[in-house]
Amino acid sequence: MAVLSDWSPEQAAALYRVRDWSAGYFDLSAEGLVTVTLDFPEGRVSVPLMDMVRGLGERGLQMPVLLRVENLLDAQIARLNESFRTAMESLGYRGAYRGVFPIKVNQQRQVIEEIAAFGARYGHGLEAGSKAELIVALAMLRPGQGMVVCNGYKDEEFADLGLLARKIGYNCVFVIESPAELPIILSRSDALGVRPSIGVRVKLSSRVGGLWNETSGDRSIFGLTTNQLVELVDKLRERGMLDCLELLHYHLGSQIPNIRDIRRGVLEACRYYVDLVNEGAAMGYLDLGGGLAVDYEGASANTPHSRNYSLDEYTVDVVEAIMGVLDPAGIAHPVLVTESGRAVVAYASVLLFNALDVTSFEPSGEPMSIGEDEHELLHGLAEVQTAVCSRGVQECYNDAIYYLDEIRDLFRRGQIGMRSEALAEDIFLRIMHRIARQLEAGAPMPPELSQLPEKIADIYYGNFSVFQSLPDAWAIDQLFPIMPIHRHREAPTRRAIIADITCDSDGKIDRFIGPQQASRTLPVHVLEEGEEYYLGVFLVGAYQETLGDLHNLMGDTNVVSVRINADGSFDFVKEMNGDSIADVLTYVEYDPGRLQVRFRDTAEQAVRSGRITPAERAQILDQFAASLRGYTYFEK
Ligand code: PLP
Repeated sequence: MAVLSDWSPEQAAALYRVRDWSAGYFDLSAEGLVTVTLDFPEGRVSVPLMDMVRGLGERGLQMPVLLRVENLLDAQIARLNESFRTAMESLGYRGAYRGVFPIKVNQQRQVIEEIAAFGARYGHGLEAGSKAELIVALAMLRPGQGMVVCNGYKDEEFADLGLLARKIGYNCVFVIESPAELPIILSRSDALGVRPSIGVRVKLSSRVGGLWNETSGDRSIFGLTTNQLVELVDKLRERGMLDCLELLHYHLGSQIPNIRDIRRGVLEACRYYVDLVNEGAAMGYLDLGGGLAVDYEGASANTPHSRNYSLDEYTVDVVEAIMGVLDPAGIAHPVLVTESGRAVVAYASVLLFNALDVTSFEPSGEPMSIGEDEHELLHGLAEVQTAVCSRGVQECYNDAIYYLDEIRDLFRRGQIGMRSEALAEDIFLRIMHRIARQLEAGAPMPPELSQLPEKIADIYYGNFSVFQSLPDAWAIDQLFPIMPIHRHREAPTRRAIIADITCDSDGKIDRFIGPQQASRTLPVHVLEEGEEYYLGVFLVGAYQETLGDLHNLMGDTNVVSVRINADGSFDFVKEMNGDSIADVLTYVEYDPGRLQVRFRDTAEQAVRSGRITPAERAQILDQFAASLRGYTYFEK
């Protein structure tokens, strides 16, 4: 692997593309440390993540830790609201913007509390997709503070709670997702004597690109068809309730990478809006759902993990598109609602973990000597090695594979021994590394060899679970920015994939953000004996925390919220211990107390049969109890 000299944090910033994906919130310091960077009225402040890691260690909080920077939640809410305000002001829009945060995107209390508290200044509300989420929304917001938009299937209980909430002043809107919901809402509104505020979700025919495009188009599972919408309007008119129909909603899918798709959706929705007003519905709110994408790759491109627009472009395009349809029709500008989730919370959370170990695919350092009596195939393989520079890389690669296969056959048939096989594997690795060096030096890359760097990359074992902490990386190949959070004054001379500690072949990350395009390996530093090596997975605040599962019974990680102050200091403001082993066992129906009793019986029998002493029994039982209390991850 080439050792890069004269390395600087600036080069590291370019290598990991920090400034492309971080939206200005993360950077590298001259000391080679990843920092969280925030603007205060007093000036810009940068705090190294390593300072926070040190603080966590001093408080006895072990890795992995999900670190939440509360200021980043605030900053994103402010950016979103300010961007809409500026767009509306500059274009002469005569309505307001009211965001609602969809609770499903991060249901954690600490997150919702912060969004509700900071969002109050902008009237930022909450979107609830279930009864449980409605309960959260009503408890977190005060009446009049922000809208409560109720999506999802609603039964009588859901309807009753939302209607009664209106009585005490909440602006709680029921979005009708299917025709069957309307009779429930109307009958409960009659029974309770509360007039509902009704919204309607339409299925737009506009389709979007990206990973979540099933949410859009005629076959999307939620929303009313145009026919069903007409029927709903007629029913409300019959009952003299068209004044209750106040909101039009659609959601085209999350992480929409192409601004043109967003614009097309807005234009189509506005056509419905105009006709609903003309039908006599009160209207007043246009809710565009979610979809505002996060540029995980920093590519500013129309690709699934990126987006080809900025936040300001999004807000201007949306406002402009609405005005473009409503103004010629002479329709008043509605309150514009968006349900941006990902864009609000992604930046605030970083998964921090330490590397535990490394497996390298390096040939041994020993000079190679092949005895005269070794099989001729081994000699053939050795000749390939000397030929790498003179023959083409593809030819040498083919020959090396051929010889290694044949040699392994010999081993399987018992014609050569383990030591000869080991020697052959070592020569093979030397050949692969030589070929890789030639490719790095600019030899043309044959398609078959494109995966070679990955095949000889190190495996760094990280103290975390992909399934628990980064479920989208496993399930849908979501790219998250990953990088070491320190040592950036040194060149990262190794290339690695990251394996977690679940012992599952899927428990790995082997797609990373590369300088130009996604890369199969991550540049990392050599692990130093006795020194911790910390990495961060960034932009993980959306969806990851609640989708995670208990694969291998790895539980929730420790979660710590920090707040950075204008003088560059920071406070640990909230802390949640990760699951203990007893916790995760309880989730899968074990009773830790009964497990202890069963194990005590086994230990007692061992005493009776003379295998252990009573003192050893006490020691084993203490260990069992301590393990139950322990963290599910690797502890130091
Ligand atoms: N609104 C609705 C109805 C959704 O289903 C979702 C999630 O897909 C969102 C809002 C949030 O979308 P995003 O996180 O892309 O902003």
